[in-house]
Amino acid sequence: MSAARKQKSIALFPASFDPVTNGHRDIIVRARNVFGEVIVGVATNVGKDETFSLDERLEMLRSVIGNEPGIRITAINGLTVDFARELDANVLIRGLRMMSDFEYEFEMALMNRHLNPQVEILFMMASHEYMYVSSSRLKELVSFGTSVDEFVPKMVAERLTRKLCGD
Ligand code: ADP
Repeated sequence: MSAARKQKSIALFPASFDPVTNGHRDIIVRARNVFGEVIVGVATNVGKDETFSLDERLEMLRSVIGNEPGIRITAINGLTVDFARELDANVLIRGLRMMSDFEYEFEMALMNRHLNPQVEILFMMASHEYMYVSSSRLKELVSFGTSVDEFVPKMVAERLTRKLCGD
C-alpha cells in the first residue's frame, strides 16, 4: 500500500451546535467509531442568529460528550476549510437528514473542496430516529412550551427552557 493510502485520517465535524442535539451526538459517536478520533468544531454561522453564545455551545458539548474517548471539542476560528488545514484534518463529516439537506450540503461541500482540495467531505446518514431533529425545530417547540426531552440531553433541555422561556 502506498504511503498516501496509509495516511491516517483526521476527521473534523463542523457545525454550529446551537444547541447540540441527540442527532449531532449520534453522528459524532458514529464518526469516532469509524475514524478512531473526531474533532468536533463549533462554528460561528454568520447567516444565523445564535441563541447560545460560543462559550455556552462549547460548554454544553463538553458536558454532553466531552468525556468520551476519541472526541475533541474546539471552537473553529475563521473558515472551516482553513481551520481543517491548520489541524491537518483531511476529512470533513456532515450529517444528512432529509433530501432537503442535500442541496445546501452539496453546494457547501463543492465550495469547501474548491477552497481546500485536500479535504474530503463525507456524509453520514442520520439515524432514522433523528431524521427530523434539528436545533431550530427544537427551539421552536420549547418556545411554545413543548418538551424536547426525548431529542436532547437533559442539561440541554434545561438550558433551552431557561434561555427561551426565562425559567
Ligand atoms: P449548521 O448551522 O452548521 O448547519 P447544524 O447544527 O444545523 O449546523 O448542522 C450541522 C450538521 O449536523 C449538518 O451536516 C446537519 O445535517 C447535521 N445534523 C444536524 N442535526 C442532525 C440530525 N438530527 N441527525 C444527523 N445529522 C444532523
